[in-house]
Amino acid sequence: VDTLTEYKALLGDIDKLNSAVSLLQWDQRTYIPAGGHTGRAEVLGKLSKMAFELATSDRLGGLIASLEGAEDLSELERASVRVVGRDYRRNKAIPADLFERFTIARVNSESAWEQSKDSSDFASFAPHLSEMVRYVRQFAELYGYDESPYDALLEEYEPGMTAARLRAIIEPLKAKLVPFLRHLMENGSAPDTSFLRGRFSVKAQRDLAMEALRAIAYDFDAGRMDDTTHPFTIEIGPGDVRVTNRYHEDLVLSGLFSALHEGGHALYGQGIPETLRPLGLADGASYGIHESQSRLWENMVGRSLPFWRYFHSKIADALPTLGGRSPEDLCGAANVVQPSLIRVEADEVTYNLHIMLRFELEVALLTGDLDVMGLPDAWRDGMRRYLGVEPTCHADGVLQDVHWSAGLIGYFPSYMLGNLYAAQLYATARRELPNLDEQIERGQATVLLEWLREKIHHQGRIYEPETLIQLVTGEPPRSTFFVDYVTEKYSRVYGL
Ligand code: ZN
Repeated sequence: VDTLTEYKALLGDIDKLNSAVSLLQWDQRTYIPAGGHTGRAEVLGKLSKMAFELATSDRLGGLIASLEGAEDLSELERASVRVVGRDYRRNKAIPADLFERFTIARVNSESAWEQSKDSSDFASFAPHLSEMVRYVRQFAELYGYDESPYDALLEEYEPGMTAARLRAIIEPLKAKLVPFLRHLMENGSAPDTSFLRGRFSVKAQRDLAMEALRAIAYDFDAGRMDDTTHPFTIEIGPGDVRVTNRYHEDLVLSGLFSALHEGGHALYGQGIPETLRPLGLADGASYGIHESQSRLWENMVGRSLPFWRYFHSKIADALPTLGGRSPEDLCGAANVVQPSLIRVEADEVTYNLHIMLRFELEVALLTGDLDVMGLPDAWRDGMRRYLGVEPTCHADGVLQDVHWSAGLIGYFPSYMLGNLYAAQLYATARRELPNLDEQIERGQATVLLEWLREKIHHQGRIYEPETLIQLVTGEPPRSTFFVDYVTEKYSRVYGL
C-alpha cells in the first residue's frame, strides 16, 4: 500500500474512534440515567486514550515525515500534511506522565472551583489556579514560541494568531467601544422589554426554537435537537451534526437565541464536505471561525429587523401573547444593552469588553506580571474601566467562568474573534448579496447559507483563520467592521 493510502486509513481510524466518543458524550449530556455516569466516564476514558495513542503513534509520525518530503501531492493533500503534522507535533510535545499529572490536578482544580464559586471564596481556589498556571506555562515552553508564551497557547484555538496581533486588533476596538457604550447608556433610550415579562411554556419555546432552526435551513435529516442544561453542538460523524438547547420559563427569548447560536455552529458542521474527512481536514478552521458562524446567525441575522419581519408570524403561532407586538417592538426588545457582571449574559456591545479583560489578565498571569492573589483586585479594576460596574462578590467576578480552573488559557480570545470575524464576513456578504435583507425578510436565508457554504464551510481546516478571512473579505481580520456594525445598529435602536 502506498504511503498516502495508509495515512488516510489511519486518520480514518482516529476519526471513527472520535465519532464514538462524540456520540457517548452527547448521550452523557442529554439522556443518560444518573446511574450511568461512572461507567460511561470509564468507557470514554478508554476510547479517548485509544484515539490519542493513534494520533501520537510513531506510525503516524513516520507517515507524516515521508509525506512532508513527497513531491507529487495535490494542494489539498499538502494542506492535510501541514495541519495533521502540526497537531501531531503539539500532541507529542507534552510527555505522557506530565499530561497525566496535569489531568489529575485539573480534576481537583475544577471541583475546587465549583466549591469556591458556591461560597464565593477565592482564597481556597487560588492555590489550584496557581498550579494550573504553572502547568500551562510549562506546556507553552514545550510547544515552543517566537515571542510570547501566550502565542503557544493561542495556537491551540486560533492557529497563527499571536498576542501581539491580538493587541493590534483590540486597541482600536477598545478605543471606540468603551466611549460608545458610555454614550449609549447616558444619552440613548432603551427599548421597551416589559412585554417579555411573565412565564412562557417550555413546550411553546421548544417549538419556536425548532422553527428558528428551520428558518436558517438547518438540515434535520443530518441532525436533531434535544434538551440539555448547557447548550452545545456536536458533530457525531458524517451526516450527523446535533444541536442541544435549554429553555427558561421566565426568559422567553433566551432559548430562541441559543437555538440560533448552536444552529450556526451546526450549519458549519453540516456544510463541511465529506471529501475533506479522509485528509483530517473536516473540521472548523479555528474556534474563532466556528464562533463567527454561530454569532453571525444569532446576532447579525437573528437580531435584525428583516429576520423579525419574517419570524413574527412564527412567534404569533407559538406565543400568542407576543403576537400582538410589532416586529419592530420584538426586535428592539432583543437588542437591549446592559453593562453587567456576567460574561455569558452580555449583549453584543459589551461582550467583547469582558473578553478584553480576560485576555489582559491571562497574559499578565502567564508572564508573571500578575500574581494569582492579585487577580481579584485586577478584575474589579478592569470591570470598572471597561464596563463601569464592579462585582461585590467573587462568584460574580473572577470566579464566574470555568475555563481557568480547567487550565484553558488562551481560549477566551476566540469568542471575541468570532464576533469580529462575523461582522467582517457579514459586511462582505451584504456587499456581494445586495438583496440580502429582502431575502431574509422573505424567509430565504438559504441565499446567505449558500454564500457561507462556498466561502467558509467548504474550506474546512484547509486555511488558517487569518488567511481564510483575508481570502473571503479581501482584508486581514480587523475590528473596524464590528465597530461600524455595532455603532450603526445601536445608535438606531437607542435613538441617537
Ligand atoms: Zn458558540
